[in-house]
Amino acid sequence: MHNPYKDAVTQLELVARRLESEYSDKQRFRAAIQLLTTPERLHEGSLEITLDSGKQQSFKAFRSQHSSARGPYKGGIRFHPGVTKEEVQALSLWMSWKTAAVGIPYGGAKGGVVVDPRLLSPAELERLSRAYVRFLGTAIGPWVDVPAPDVNTTPQIMAWMVDEYEVMMRESNTAALQNPLASFTGKPLTLGGSEGREEATGLGGVYVLEELAKKLHWQRKQDITVAIQGFGNVGYWFAYHADTAGYKVVAVSDSKSGVFVPTGLDPVRTLACKRETGKMGTCACNEKECHVSLGKQVSNQELLALDVDVLVPAALENVITSETAPKIKAKTIIEMANGPTTPEADEILAARKIQVVPDILANAGGVSTSYFEWVQNVSGSHWSKAEVLTKLQPLMVTAFNDIWSVYEREATTFRLAAYQVAVKRVIDALFLRGRV
Ligand code: NAD
Repeated sequence: MHNPYKDAVTQLELVARRLESEYSDKQRFRAAIQLLTTPERLHEGSLEITLDSGKQQSFKAFRSQHSSARGPYKGGIRFHPGVTKEEVQALSLWMSWKTAAVGIPYGGAKGGVVVDPRLLSPAELERLSRAYVRFLGTAIGPWVDVPAPDVNTTPQIMAWMVDEYEVMMRESNTAALQNPLASFTGKPLTLGGSEGREEATGLGGVYVLEELAKKLHWQRKQDITVAIQGFGNVGYWFAYHADTAGYKVVAVSDSKSGVFVPTGLDPVRTLACKRETGKMGTCACNEKECHVSLGKQVSNQELLALDVDVLVPAALENVITSETAPKIKAKTIIEMANGPTTPEADEILAARKIQVVPDILANAGGVSTSYFEWVQNVSGSHWSKAEVLTKLQPLMVTAFNDIWSVYEREATTFRLAAYQVAVKRVIDALFLRGRV
């Protein structure tokens, strides 16, 4: 069976080979790499809850805390039947690289529960969420590990979790010592969530696109065509901000179908049409109207192979594979989904000189705004949306440029450059702390 943790370690070793020459003390460097191949702590257990029927049921649960070298652990919690220990471990390594790539003071972690939340009632889901917090106990907290939503976990789930955390702190008489709201991010706005969080991931990706456009000397944005796979939170907001910035978004899709409008589509109208009709494929909409004559329906596979300038996978993992990569015509890929490209496909894209902006940079606007949420919570403040977005832009732009300079200097792929920057920051923190 495919083991994502093994992939993550292989990737780290590949980056280590490129980084080794930068360290004079090779033994210490190897010790740091060795340390980073294994999460610092792996919590594994079973959550027992009472179902509405009165029966007891248990669910396997994990939290992998990979690295605390740069700050408290940070990473989402996913509720999914396919969660495995190896997946959670791999994702925790990637979170360490992502927080380091954008320079926010966190380490990396990930959590998961093996459950199909659609099979639980809201009351059962609440009991499961609270049980997960009890399972982790003092292993999480504002200055220790700050979880967030991930696949199938919502702001409501974060609200239950933060409440359980606060109850736990009251029981141990420590509730006054810190602001419990800062123990989770991705919370509802009325419970310490941040303005701007909803659109931050998509917008962060467009900030990256704008920087890339400058580096590649793209002259006329209105001629740069963009196809986006996925029209959920990330895909929609990427489309909206790319369109607002002047790019020509020509195709979007959801799990069922996609639409291609060669003259450029209007994301707001397209979303309204999809909500109204439930059929993305028939929503060929420009800024004036939706009409079949404006475009045509495309499948998700066809969308990936469209003759566009920029392709944006914003839905699922592993969609760019050794089968689909040779068919891609776009010269630039912005990875807004987590892990959309398989390692084999990545080699094909590199050989075809297709520029890939990796997920650890492209979609880091989300975790960066989570960081802003945490800063607001620990300082007891609330920022306006304009304040949040004004802070996000320089953060993404600086991260992009840090990586770009390594990319140019080392004549490598942009993905490897991003990993080099990120892993080096974690190793340097380990050195400074004297942990190796
Ligand atoms: P979402 O559930 O809001 O949207 C997912 C979209 O993908 C939907 O439009 C859905 O119809 C579509 N989709 C599902 N199956 C598909 C398929 N087989 N083919 C094409 N489209 C399909 O999720 P989201 O929050 O937009 O997340 C999308 C991706 O971005 C995920 O990989 C997620 O891990 C990543 N991500 C999200 C955030 C965030 O802030 N939401 C942050 C970082 C990374």
